[in-house]
This record gives sequence, structure tokens and C-alpha cells, in this order.
Amino acid sequence: MVQSLADMDRDLQQAFRDLEEIVAEVVDLERAGAVLRWDQETYMPTGGSESRAQVLGTLARLAHARFVSDAVGELLAKLKPALEELDPESYEASLIRVTAREYEKLRKLPARLVEEQARVASVAQVVWAEAREKQDFGLFQPHLERLFALAREIADHLGYPNERYDALLDLYEPGMRTAEVEHLFTALKERLLPLVGAIGEASRAGKGAVDDTFLRQPYDEAGQWELTLRALRAMGYDFSRGRQDKSAHPFTIHFSPDDVRITTRIIPDDPLSALFSSIHEGGHALYEQGIPRALSRTHLGEGASLGVHESQSRLWENVVGRSREFWQFFLPVAREVFPAQLAGVTVEQIYRAVNRVKPSFIRTEADEVTYNLHIFLRFELERAVLNGQLEVGELPAAWDDKMESYLGIRPPDLARGVLQDIHWSMGSIGYFPTYTLGNVLSVQFYRQAVQEEPEIPQAIARGELMMLKEWLRRRIHVHGAKFEPQELVRKVTGRPLDPQPYLEYIEGKYSDLYGLKMG
Ligand code: ZN
Repeated sequence: MVQSLADMDRDLQQAFRDLEEIVAEVVDLERAGAVLRWDQETYMPTGGSESRAQVLGTLARLAHARFVSDAVGELLAKLKPALEELDPESYEASLIRVTAREYEKLRKLPARLVEEQARVASVAQVVWAEAREKQDFGLFQPHLERLFALAREIADHLGYPNERYDALLDLYEPGMRTAEVEHLFTALKERLLPLVGAIGEASRAGKGAVDDTFLRQPYDEAGQWELTLRALRAMGYDFSRGRQDKSAHPFTIHFSPDDVRITTRIIPDDPLSALFSSIHEGGHALYEQGIPRALSRTHLGEGASLGVHESQSRLWENVVGRSREFWQFFLPVAREVFPAQLAGVTVEQIYRAVNRVKPSFIRTEADEVTYNLHIFLRFELERAVLNGQLEVGELPAAWDDKMESYLGIRPPDLARGVLQDIHWSMGSIGYFPTYTLGNVLSVQFYRQAVQEEPEIPQAIARGELMMLKEWLRRRIHVHGAKFEPQELVRKVTGRPLDPQPYLEYIEGKYSDLYGLKMG
């Protein structure tokens, strides 16, 4: 085995450099599209949507065509035999392996389909926002039907072992199968549903009650903004290589490890919304900022999967941001910014307030315990539509029914029901399970971090969040997308994806908060 291509013949070295060059161009085109999408979500006037859709469609088609060209196929054919001799963890081997995997996947998609999907989705996003505002599903329905039809077509081109959903899921979570998701969700449901029930009963009996009226008063926008910045700085988000803006739907986007942007959303009488959005997106951003520059202009220069990405955001948002230790550090910081609103509030009080469990309509505002139920619902519905068991027109009612059966509440309107998420309008079908994978992994990773560095919780209480950030960087971020998610999880924790640490964490934390005796 040799360490690098430098030890191999000149022809191979040249082929590798040629491959690097083409991949770099593809990544540049994708990043140009990303800048325009960022602009679309932050500052673009709504009138710009049609022309923006055309530009995005063209860029997507060019990037795709360049990537799935015969030239790339020939270079990969020349380079693949070298994989047998190269260290599999080396940059060279990883680049050849991951590029070949993506190439084989994407070259199955006709350029026409890629362009059409980008164009339809770009328009659909704008229509979705309008439909949500006007509470009119009919406005959005034809676009969503088109997007599901395109998703089916994409799945058929990609091929799948059991069902179309496998092909789409694999785009977000390489190597994961629908049946595995179903199995994991069943295991989670078995313990989360009774827990939600027990917490509901305890709440009705007055247990876990907390006076959180201090949160429901005006918190001015400038102060909220300042608070998000303080949290992000403490986490180690590098503002010289990123910036925060406002958008309707908070998100993270990167143009390189040196330009990783986030957005947040400010609600005047709910200071936690912006704060936790920023911490969440900050978790995503630390991942991107932590990926080595050497991987930057390749497809190794991103997160291992959406599930692993979400593990980073959920780890910071929930495992850290909703812990007692974090509030020991952050309550005094918050009190500096909002002295009147937070006068006399104790750590225990705010810890209980930020961990209040209450079934609610909006996924992004859901507490840790009920959050996954929102995902089960979406997974089941999109899978049923994709498999032809449910019509798009039946989604609003099916949504409300499932909401009632999982959470015991029925959305009063479409904005709090089927029209709340942007994902389907972006054509991101098969994406939702990655949120729950992220929740499960967030605890599995954190537990490993604390096992290796037991002083992390105390460091958090002192506001030294860098210890955790450095661990994540060293053990996860540094690999970029070199490894498939399952392989990475094994490498970091020595075990496959495992729901047990997550369930123990949730049951332990909330039994304590609500005075439950778990059987
Ligand atoms: Zn996220």
C-alpha cells in the first residue's frame, strides 16, 4: 500500500490532476447557484423569482453536464484501479471513491430532468410562500404534484432496491434504506409515544409547572440580535468567515469553508426562537467552517450527510443549548442584554422554561420530545404519495388526521398544517428522516465526546464551549464527506447508529423534569 499518488506513475498523477480540475469547476458552478439561492432567501425582491429560476436551472444543468461528462468517466476508469493500492483514508483515495460514487449516481439523471427540477422547485418555493400566506392549498397543489412526479421520475432513473423512496433518501443519506428508517422510527415510537402521554398527564396534574411569563413579553429586535451574536461567538463561529442575516426560514449555506452563512428569524415576544435558531444554524456552520481547505473544491468539502449535519445543529441547539450547564453560563449574558425582562429569573426557571414539553403545530418550534413525531408524520405521508397510496390533493386532510393521532391536536389552518415547511416546495422529498437521524446521532456523538473528555459539561457551564467544538472538529468535521455516514458513526463512536443513548437521554432528562417514574 502506498500513501499517495506521488509514489505512482506519471500518467495516473496527471489523470488525478485532471479530475481535480473538472470537479473544482463543478463545485464552483454549484457555489454560484448557492450564492443566488442565499440571495433569493434573504434580499431578492419577489419579482425576481422567475428570472432567478432560469439562472438556477441553467447553472444546475451546466454543473450536472460537466460532472457526468465522458471525460470524468474516462478519468475515473483510469484511476479506480489505484484504489486497491492507496490508503483508503487518504485524500486521493477518498476523492476517487466519492467522486465515482456520485458520478455513477448522477449520470443516470438526464440533464433535462435536472434542469426541470431546479426550475420547477425555484418557482414552487415562491408559490408555496404565497399559498401559505393566503391559506390556499389549491394554489400550491399543481406545483407539488409536478414536484412529486419529478421525484418519481428521478427515483426511476436512479434505481432502487425496494421502493422509490430508497433512491431519494440515498441522495441525502448515502447508504441508508427506507426499511432501516422505518425500523428506527418504530423503535423510537415505542418509547416516545408513551413518554409524551406520561408528560401530558403529569402536566395536567401540575407537575413540571414553571412560570415562564417572563418569556412572553416584548424583547426588542436589536437585543435579540445581540443575544444571537453572543451565543454564536461563544460557540466559536468565525464571523470573519461567515455572516448572519434574516430570512423567513432559518438556514445555513456555504460557498467554501471560508464563507459559511447563516440566517435567523426574530419574533418580538419569543426571544428563544431567534436564539435557538441561531444556535442550531451555528452548529451546521461550525461543521462547514471546520472542513479542511484542502477538501474545499471537491465533493469531499461538505458534511458526510444531512443526518450527520443535523446531528451537529441538534447537538448545539438541544444537548448543549437546552442544558443546565449552558444556562449557568448564558443566563448572566442574557441578563446583560435584557436586564428588565430577566430580573430575578433563576437558572432552574429558565432551564425548565426552555424544556417545556407541549404538543404544538409547528415542527421548528417543537420541543425535544415531540419533535420526532412531526418527522414520523412527514415521512409516512411523503412515502405514501411517492408510492401512489395517497394523492397530493389528499395531503391537507391526511396531515391533520395524523397530527391528531400522534399529538392529539388538529391544526386550525394550513399554515400550521401541511403548508408549514419549505422542503417539499424545494423538491426535497425523502429529506425529513434526516432530522430524526440527526437527533439520534447528536446524543450518540455527545456521549462519546464526554466519555473522551469528561470535563466538557463543566467547561460549558463556564462558557468554554470551545472544548466541545474542538472535539467535534477533530473527530467529525475534519473528515468532510470522506466517509459514508454509517462508516463515520462507527469511526467516531465505535458503534453503528444506535437509538439507545438518545432514548436514555430523553427519558432521563424529562422524567427528572416532570417527576415521572419510568418503568
Ligand atoms: Zn438543521
